Amino acid sequence: MNARISNPHVELEERYCAHNYAPLPVVLSRGEGVWLWDDHGRRYLDMMSAYSAVSFGHAHPRLVAALAGQARRLAVTSRAFYSDRLGLFLQRLCEMTAMPRALPMNSGAEAVETAIKAARKWGYRRRGVPDGQARIVVCRGNFAGRTTTIVGFSSEAQYRDGFGPFDGGFDSVPFGDAEALEAAITPHTVAFLVEPIQGEGGIVTPPDGYLRRCREICSRHGVLMICDEVQTGLGRTGKLLACDHEGIRPDGLVLGKALGGGLLPVSAFLASNEVMEVFAPGDHGSTFGGNALSAAVGYEALGLLQDGELFANTREQGHRLAEGLRRIQHPALREIRGRGLMLGMELDPRFIRARTFCERLMTCGVLSKETHETVVRLAPPLVIGSEETDFALQAIRDVFQGLPHHHA
Ligand SMILES: *Cc1c(COP(=O)(O)O)cnc(C)c1O
Repeated sequence: MNARISNPHVELEERYCAHNYAPLPVVLSRGEGVWLWDDHGRRYLDMMSAYSAVSFGHAHPRLVAALAGQARRLAVTSRAFYSDRLGLFLQRLCEMTAMPRALPMNSGAEAVETAIKAARKWGYRRRGVPDGQARIVVCRGNFAGRTTTIVGFSSEAQYRDGFGPFDGGFDSVPFGDAEALEAAITPHTVAFLVEPIQGEGGIVTPPDGYLRRCREICSRHGVLMICDEVQTGLGRTGKLLACDHEGIRPDGLVLGKALGGGLLPVSAFLASNEVMEVFAPGDHGSTFGGNALSAAVGYEALGLLQDGELFANTREQGHRLAEGLRRIQHPALREIRGRGLMLGMELDPRFIRARTFCERLMTCGVLSKETHETVVRLAPPLVIGSEETDFALQAIRDVFQGLPHHHA
């Protein structure tokens, strides 16, 4: 369908870009706060936030100032040298998350890869697991990025299809089932990698107490608990970390997306000294990881979270949005899931596919994207206000009102 709308920018992308996405037919050219504008000047409310990377809104003045100022001073030197930005950024990151040490990377997938390497080497060096035999437990429905190792432990057929062989070393258990985790642990298990809420998997929330039980099981078996908070972290669920809702600290923490302030790819793997000690100079690295520009923007992004106001707003607007959705009485709306401003609507596909729902929302001035066939994600920038939340709700109600009350 995209190829059929006649727009020169769409045609160029379709002509030259790999077709590894299926964008909605809108050409964006400007963003400010929670709003985006297309190439015809039409305005849309962003209920997608670039998969939660734009938590602070588009073109946040403090973040743009940090970016521009640092770009003029110093941007990329590689970690062959120290910079006057990286230490300050990581100090703030470690102090805010109460994790002792950080390894800076760029994309979320790279930080997850870093976590996997750290866990395996820790297993060999500290736990005495025979070389090459470390195993990591993951959850079905996980999403942790698109590298070959990561798609190798995905349960999504399309993510894997055609990209093997996969090396293994991963065991899958159902998400939300702590007993299944315990049953899957063997003497060679070094880590359990888990998202506190599965984002790409369809905004799937585990039962209350799940993370706490997993924490206890991991501690008892000497297995590292590694939380992938690339999407749930940095305020998305109404607290700094989704782990905070259950009062636990993992042994390893992966952050990304919003850490770059919606301007740059910035990610990090955080862990204890004991885990991070496995890395010696030359073991692991990244040309751009921890560069001064990323560090300056990441530092400022964390600064925007320090007073906690954004968390309070996230809880308030998340509640307003969820309550408004719950008042919609339509048989096509099966379930509302999530926490804070990480919400998903599960639709009955006999009425409408999630993709079609998003296309109709777009014509009502709201941008979002489906995850899987049946879930529409609702994850605006955390700076959203009540009027804007109500605007989103009205558009959603309008789309439901256009649907029949009985499926075909
Ligand atoms: C998006 C995401 C990643 C991967 O991040 P990229 O920057 O796209 O590589 C990893 N884990 C989770 C939970 C994510 O949502």
